[in-house]
Amino acid sequence: MLLFLLRTLNLKRGPRLAPERLAQIQQQRLKALVRRTIRGSAFYREKYRGIDCNRFTLGDLPPTNKGELMANFDRVVTDPAVTRAGIERFIDVPENAGHHFLDRYVVSHTSGSQGQPMLIVQDQRSLELAFRLQMTRGNNEPVGVREGISRLIDPVRLAVVTLKRGFYPSATLFQHMPAAARRYVNVLWLSQTDPDLNRRLNDFRPQVLTGYAGVLEMLALEAEAGRLRLEPELRQVVNNSEALTDRAKARIQSAFGLHVMNNYATGECTFLSNGCPTDAGAHVNSDWAIMEVVDDEYRPVPDGRPGQKVLITNLANGVQPFIRYEVGDVVTMADTPCHCGSRLPRIARIEGRAADVFWVGEGSRHRRMINLVFAHAFEYLRDVREWQAIQRDRHRVVVRLEPLRGATVDLTRARKALDRELTTYDFQDVQVEFEVVPQLAADPATGKFRRMISLVSDQAKAGPPQRPLIGRGMIGQAIEPRRTHRPTPTNATRG
Ligand SMILES: [Zn+2]
Repeated sequence: MLLFLLRTLNLKRGPRLAPERLAQIQQQRLKALVRRTIRGSAFYREKYRGIDCNRFTLGDLPPTNKGELMANFDRVVTDPAVTRAGIERFIDVPENAGHHFLDRYVVSHTSGSQGQPMLIVQDQRSLELAFRLQMTRGNNEPVGVREGISRLIDPVRLAVVTLKRGFYPSATLFQHMPAAARRYVNVLWLSQTDPDLNRRLNDFRPQVLTGYAGVLEMLALEAEAGRLRLEPELRQVVNNSEALTDRAKARIQSAFGLHVMNNYATGECTFLSNGCPTDAGAHVNSDWAIMEVVDDEYRPVPDGRPGQKVLITNLANGVQPFIRYEVGDVVTMADTPCHCGSRLPRIARIEGRAADVFWVGEGSRHRRMINLVFAHAFEYLRDVREWQAIQRDRHRVVVRLEPLRGATVDLTRARKALDRELTTYDFQDVQVEFEVVPQLAADPATGKFRRMISLVSDQAKAGPPQRPLIGRGMIGQAIEPRRTHRPTPTNATRG
């Protein structure tokens, strides 16, 4: 118990460390991880052949991706007792949720909305780290020894509004809260579809409220309507992993009078960052994780500019190594110091999945239509609660609008707003139909709401051709990103 508290408080030093010292710690942990990985994983041993594990830089390690790690699952993990078939059998039994796999691992899977699901195995160490980081760096008020001890007596009331139990990474995390952490936190677990949600929250009086951005926004509207009353106890609102739009942020902040802490993480690295208490975005926990913002060809993108994807390295998880693991999120790093005083790198903006784009137009006229086209049009309309765009074919998009309760959507205004954006971004050849629906629902499988859904087949919506890459230090060995689940585009791409 005391050890947990001391180890936890030790993490408070990270944000104050000089960047050089932080880089040193990161490099030491990376070396240790690579050494362990080469010893225990046949897949990485082969992939890193020719790399001197005592003298390398991060860029020498060829990137990897979901397709590659899933296709070679049993050779990737460092514990031979862990197999893909074994995990699949385990998660096929719903009653296993909340239990350990092989008595020592926590398993989860990502949603299938971005292609095939990824199976994730975490050891106890990385799971505890996620909680300890949340307790020390994910708070908008400082946690000291005194605060730690007072919470032992009067634990923080945390309401988690998410899916029901299951094997989704965020659900898994709370189901496996370490016993030591439970002493500090009293968790109420609620489903976003619970018809009694407002009453149960009102009774519980949470001090911390956490959920996906879409759910928090819905709760903000309930608070504005007077059906949800969480003041004055509520002191922190945390968005977990769903892209937070400017509109949602403004709504949540005005309803609860609190800054929204915007965590950004992935199932592969649940402790990647913690929301900044003063500014937009989140600080990367770069003593325990590495995040590189890169372009389509894995070249680093400077701070202040959006990348095409990110490469994530989890420095804590030894059983299933994720080293320079590709995630298709469009992320911009801040290029100015942060008001909160943390010296950890700050993610300024997350545009969500790069996969959440429409490819419109033909042949060499293939262009990427990003969510800002719609967001700019609809997020400032006062009668619209939420929007969703569905690409039916390359030139046809259906926009579904959900009105605010009691409001009527002014479709002429909505169309005008969108036309303006389509002209600005030069998408006049795209036909748009509008539908007003009473309620837009989250994807039932994941609980996450998707604003952009393309029904155009992979082949037709494929972006620019993915050139085979030569990893530095791996001369002659090409790595093709996403080979297993993304067909190589043929002629319908821009060159
Ligand atoms: Zn900050």
